[in-house]
Amino acid sequence: MTTAQPLDFQAPAPSPLALLLLGREADPKSERGVECPGDLPAPSDPDLVERARAAKAKLGDKVFVLGHHYQRDEVIEFADVTGDSFKLARDAAARPDAEYIVFCGVHFMAESADILTTAGQQVVLPDLAAGCSMADMATAEQVAECWDVLTEAGVADVTVPVSYMNSSADIKAFTGKHGGTICTSSNAERALNWAFEQGEKILFLPDQHLGRNTAVRDMGMSLDDCVLYNPHKPGGGLTAEQLRGAKMILWRGHCSVHGRFSLDSVNDVRERIPGVNVLVHPECRHEVVAAADYVGSTEYIIKTLEAAPAGSKWAIGTELNLVRRLANRFAGEGKEIVFLDKTVCFCSTMNRIDLPHLVWALESLAAGKVVNRIEVDPEVAAFSKLALERMLALP
Ligand code: SF4
Repeated sequence: MTTAQPLDFQAPAPSPLALLLLGREADPKSERGVECPGDLPAPSDPDLVERARAAKAKLGDKVFVLGHHYQRDEVIEFADVTGDSFKLARDAAARPDAEYIVFCGVHFMAESADILTTAGQQVVLPDLAAGCSMADMATAEQVAECWDVLTEAGVADVTVPVSYMNSSADIKAFTGKHGGTICTSSNAERALNWAFEQGEKILFLPDQHLGRNTAVRDMGMSLDDCVLYNPHKPGGGLTAEQLRGAKMILWRGHCSVHGRFSLDSVNDVRERIPGVNVLVHPECRHEVVAAADYVGSTEYIIKTLEAAPAGSKWAIGTELNLVRRLANRFAGEGKEIVFLDKTVCFCSTMNRIDLPHLVWALESLAAGKVVNRIEVDPEVAAFSKLALERMLALP
């Protein structure tokens, strides 16, 4: 089911939800909900590592393998670069000589890589069913309907959409078309400041928590300045008056991994480990972020732990593959790193990319066959790029 846990990291207990497996059947509720069409090697094949090495060596500079921080160790081992979604898309764009970009991450990330790379480059996602539950929570139809609701309430003209990187290309295109920008968890505050110079209100998609945490924790707004638009209710479940009174219209989406950390997780770890520093991702719920000592993106989490003194203790609220890797990496420096929650919290869709899928994708490319190519429609790509370029130009 899962990879073996290293001895020097206290792994949390498994939970049925978190161990949804992994790489084979389709998940009808996922962003893609499709089966991977390939004839995959068996996970038990003892030659998988050797096969991946051989296929990658055969492809040489033609292939560039990107590994998101939340990927399994067995996949990260073959990544040419690791990083968060935006860093990886930029890394891909910086390698125009690479004919094939194999993106070990989830679907929206591969879309962004396709948008930012040249027409001659082909982006491959080793398992097409590696979607993102957060990205799934805002569809193009729902967002178009929301814009109609804002128009009827008379606020669309003064509203600027800001979409988190973790959204589909359709949502990024909507954002570009309506004068908005993309943001990441590292630059959300700058993006919101920019947007408030363009208009009076922000429609923040699709992660309510990043939107609320940035507005309230970083920018001093109140919770009353925020309203929650529920795409499953008529009119988003909001009155025109509520929409007119709000500064932040938050889309009702969240990350199913970070959304699982609770205030109890924070209180409990503080009791168990006196002196522990609690460091969480801003996709966590507001009460978790408010109770934490430090809050930031995956890159911030890594840098904070790099700079931490020997003997310090840390409880980390982000995806388990990354936390486990960091715990092992820094154990030799005397830094104690634990997972914030008591139960396992993998991103099940990230975990779909496993060694059999990577071997299959690399061997297919080495044999001259491009599998699982992610190609964004040119018009969608053009508007998405506009929104991404506004982000790159943020002051
Ligand atoms: S960790 Fe959350 S936001 Fe990231 S891919 Fe998984 S579900 Fe999506």
